[in-house]
Amino acid sequence: MDLAQRVGIITGAASGIGKEIAIKLAERGGIPVIADLNLEAAKATADAIKATGADAFAVAMDVTNEEAVEKGVAEVVAKYGRIDILISNAGIQIVKPLVDFPFADWKKLLSIHLDGAFLTTRACLKHMYAANYGRVVYMGSVHSHEASKLKAPYVTAKHGLLGLARVLAKEGAEHNVTANVVCPGFVRTPLVEKQIPEQAKELGISEEEVVKTVMLKDTVDGQFTTTDDVASAVLYFAASPTNVLTGQSLVVSHGWFMQ
Ligand code: NAD
Repeated sequence: MDLAQRVGIITGAASGIGKEIAIKLAERGGIPVIADLNLEAAKATADAIKATGADAFAVAMDVTNEEAVEKGVAEVVAKYGRIDILISNAGIQIVKPLVDFPFADWKKLLSIHLDGAFLTTRACLKHMYAANYGRVVYMGSVHSHEASKLKAPYVTAKHGLLGLARVLAKEGAEHNVTANVVCPGFVRTPLVEKQIPEQAKELGISEEEVVKTVMLKDTVDGQFTTTDDVASAVLYFAASPTNVLTGQSLVVSHGWFMQ
C-alpha cells in the first residue's frame, strides 16, 4: 500500500534515525510530523522537507510529559484531522555498570523509552480507533532481544517495548491498528557517537576497539546499520495493508542477532 497523504507522528525526529524516517515518509508522499524535545531542530528538519515541495510539521513534545504529549497530538489533529501512523522513536542512551547505576538515570531512561511509548500510543490511539485505521511502530533495538554490559535500563526498556507492541497488536486488531517493533543494530547517529568514548573509558579500551570488538563484533560483515536501512524497515511495517504484520519485531543488524 502506498503511504501517500498518510499523517505520521515520528517522535525524536529532529535527529538521527527519526529524521531519516521523516524524510523517507515525505519522499513516499506521506506527511511527517516531527515531534521532538528540541523544537528548533524539529523545525529545521520540517523546513528541509518542505523545501523539497513535500508537507511536514514540527511540534514540540517531551514524550515523558503527559500534558505535552496530549497537546502535541491535539495540534496535529487540529491541523490534519487525523493520525494514521505513530513511530515511537525518541530515545537516549546512558552507559554505566549496573552495580552503581544512578537511580535517577535509570528512571530517566525508562521514562523516555517506556513512558514515552505508552503516552504517545495512548494519545494517538483515540484518533486511530475513531478512524478505524492505525499503524504503530516502536523503535526497539537488537537490545530488545539481546543484552550488553553497561546498558541495564536500555536493554530493559527495549525488551519492554516488545510487550507493549504485542498487547497493542491484540487490542488494536478490531480497529485495524497494527503494532510492530524495528530492532536496529548499531547506527552511527549522535546517540552512538556519544557512547563510543564513554564505553572506551568504562571498558579501558580504545575507541577503535569499542567499534570493532564491542559494537560490530557479532555482525556478519563488520558493518554499521544505516539510518536508511532502519527507515525502510519502519516504513515497510507502516505501509502494511492488513493485520498480517502485527505483534512482530524485525531485526536489522547485519546479522548481529539472528532470530
Ligand atoms: P539521536 O540521539 O540521533 O536522536 C534522538 C532524538 O530523540 C533527538 O532528536 C532528541 O532530541 C530526541 N529526544 C530525546 N529525548 C526526548 C524526549 N523526552 N521527548 C522527545 N524527544 C526526545 O538518536 P538515534 O540513534 O536516532 O535514536 C533513535 C532511536 O533509535 C532511539 O530509540 C534509540 O534507542 C534507537 N536505536 C538507536 C540505535 C543506534 O545505534 N543509533 C540502535 C538501535 C536503536
